[in-house]
Amino acid sequence: MGRVSMAVASASLVLALAGCRAQAAEAPAQAGDRAAIDLQQKTARFAVTDLSADLSALPANEREALAHMVRAAQVMDALFLEQVWSGNETTFHLLAKDDSPLGRARLHAFLVNKGPWSRLDHNEPFVAGVPDKPASANFYPAGSTKAEVEKWIASLSPADKERATGFFTTIRRGPDGKLMAVPYSTEYQGELALAAHHLRAAAAATRQPTLKAFLESRAAAFVSNDYYDSDVKWMELDATIEPTIGPYEVYEDEWFNYKAAFEAFITVKDQTESDKLKKFAGSLQEIENNLPIDPGYRNKRLGALAPIAVVNTVYSSGDGNRGVQTAAFNLPNDERVIREKGSKRVMLKNNQQAKFDQVLTPISKVALAASDQGSIAFEAFFTHILMHELMHGLGPHDIVVGGRTTTVRQELKETYSAIEEAKADISGLFALQFLIDKGQLDKGLEKTMYTTFLASAFRSLRFGINEAHGRGQAIQLNYLLDRGGFKVNADGTFAVDSAKIRDAVTSLTREIMTLQAEGSYAKAKAMIDTLGVIRPQTKALLDKLTSVPVDIEPRFVTALDLVK
Ligand code: ZN
Repeated sequence: MGRVSMAVASASLVLALAGCRAQAAEAPAQAGDRAAIDLQQKTARFAVTDLSADLSALPANEREALAHMVRAAQVMDALFLEQVWSGNETTFHLLAKDDSPLGRARLHAFLVNKGPWSRLDHNEPFVAGVPDKPASANFYPAGSTKAEVEKWIASLSPADKERATGFFTTIRRGPDGKLMAVPYSTEYQGELALAAHHLRAAAAATRQPTLKAFLESRAAAFVSNDYYDSDVKWMELDATIEPTIGPYEVYEDEWFNYKAAFEAFITVKDQTESDKLKKFAGSLQEIENNLPIDPGYRNKRLGALAPIAVVNTVYSSGDGNRGVQTAAFNLPNDERVIREKGSKRVMLKNNQQAKFDQVLTPISKVALAASDQGSIAFEAFFTHILMHELMHGLGPHDIVVGGRTTTVRQELKETYSAIEEAKADISGLFALQFLIDKGQLDKGLEKTMYTTFLASAFRSLRFGINEAHGRGQAIQLNYLLDRGGFKVNADGTFAVDSAKIRDAVTSLTREIMTLQAEGSYAKAKAMIDTLGVIRPQTKALLDKLTSVPVDIEPRFVTALDLVK
């Protein structure tokens, strides 16, 4: 019963981790210790940033509930470490005992990356003697191969196959050497019991019924391994505290994307932004009716809006706090819940603010002329992100091509994601301008939103154009440059041409939505091939950004205060 003792050891890991992070973050830099300094510099690409949330509206009992949720979330860190690699716990304890500058730097990097590999550097190891990061993580048995697991899965009955490929089982080898599926509730029994205990304590403290229902049902799911009911309760949450905790995303399982990694986002609702969203939602049909496309392509009646929650992070952990920080997420992933209840988008406002302050503002100092730097504003940045999310729901989706009913996604195939991301961005600008012209948004936004958008293009492009958001951003930047809406100054900085930007934005919105309405793969492909590229002037600017942080490393000061 190695698993039980492992669980006990990991419960102590939970406590060790909770105490360790702040200490490691202040690793001393000793001149002369080259390796320590090099590693520290790599880790410093994540700018250490205090992340706080305003709890003044919460009564004492709700703060108590929140503190219990933070403790439950701390368990997710230990669980995630265990899921990433079977050697993580041992490595953590070795690093924690090493007081040398290099030891401290390694521990810091380990905690940021949730393992001894640098996620920003193609998982290059930074601890001597560790193997390459396993693509199978710790979800499949040591020594097994992908082909072996695949063959075994193919041999199973439908019911067994569902278990083996499900989100919430690991694959292990039994005493007879055969492969078997082990439920998370057994595999991680000790830690999940601990997390469930904290969630029940939180449920007992809160007086908000939907929150209590979610906390109780999620605690039960940790024990039963059946997450359906608690996923439904998560969709029904209507409370000042918005917790997301459990096994969710499957990226860490690089073999099959079957297995869910543990994470938590313990957050509180942002009332101001939630009200703003509500206001926008009331204008969406009017925006749709005025889209710059053939009226026949417009939706006469928009469907129901998918729920969006704007929140501030109090604490995040596990898969939700490794390497580059999440700015927003869509959950749940369970298709059955999505069919019945839809899914919810959660936007982490204070994470976005931290990224804006630590990354976007320094980028703007390099990318823009001095006279334009005052036109960068978080309000414009975040309002555009909100509108981006809403605009995904507008424009063509279900289409008819040559008499055949189909969808934009089906027709555009692999070009779909980049084109759709570009659409949401550019039509988001179009929509904000529309609301400004109608007097529904402050006129001052006109000055800031285009310049802020320009600076934020470089933030996305730094992550490359192999991913949909970066590729979509390149399309827009190049198109707007070609149309004169953006221009390059003699010194290589970029600027907005306020006389031309509006028409350029309108015309790109028209081009993208029209090719979507036509389901034209050829036009989408041509747009990506000609515009979805990094041109020399952009490359020259990106090369000047090497000293700007890539992202943030949050210090959860509100949470630290709560659990003190
Ligand atoms: Zn998007």
